[in-house]
Amino acid sequence: KFITIEGTEGVGKSTNLTFVHEWLTVRGIDVLVTREPGGTPLAEQLRELLLATREEPVAHKAELLMIFAARAQHLEQVIKPALAQGTWVLCDRFTDATYAYQGGGRGLDKTVIGELEHLVQDTLRPDLTLILDIAPELGLQRAAARAELDRFEREDIAFFNRVRAAYRERADANPAHYAQVDASQTLNEVQRDIAGCLARLLSE
Ligand code: C5P
Repeated sequence: KFITIEGTEGVGKSTNLTFVHEWLTVRGIDVLVTREPGGTPLAEQLRELLLATREEPVAHKAELLMIFAARAQHLEQVIKPALAQGTWVLCDRFTDATYAYQGGGRGLDKTVIGELEHLVQDTLRPDLTLILDIAPELGLQRAAARAELDRFEREDIAFFNRVRAAYRERADANPAHYAQVDASQTLNEVQRDIAGCLARLLSE
């Protein structure tokens, strides 16, 4: 199975990724944990290029293509071979992030994103996407308390509201493969909800 975890800044993605990994591992499931953009040496280099703060403005379409270039490499080198062996893959962000950030946030055409998705992934889609949902004001407060901000974390609230709306739209349109978790709850409550989703996936 292929599980992805998504959300805007400061939503608790890393903590909950570790929780999912442990929850599956104690149930005897072999899980490969990876992330996007990144997951291979080349794709990690593309990630560094994407996140760097620079003088030159990054064209939105250049950003989109770099993300899909990284994804193509990640899929061929890591994700597809693991799934073919029966290993579960747990990925920190995937194509929903592209619909949310480059589509919702940057305003790029969703149809174009869909075409690139088809080119790069063919019919491969996550079995379950966990969307951790939080008001951007709250998430950014949490993220700001953390380390240095990357290029994306300096966007304004309106940008993150569009990202959040795009995630919600994707989840609402396909409830069989998406779970929205209210990440403003306590960590225990968030993890109880996530565990419920995993238990359902495991019983499929
Ligand atoms: O997941 P993580 O927060 O480490 O992602 C690094 C940065 O890349 C984040 O600021 C995220 O918003 C951004 N990103 C993006 N578009 C994507 C994937 C990630 O803007 N498709």
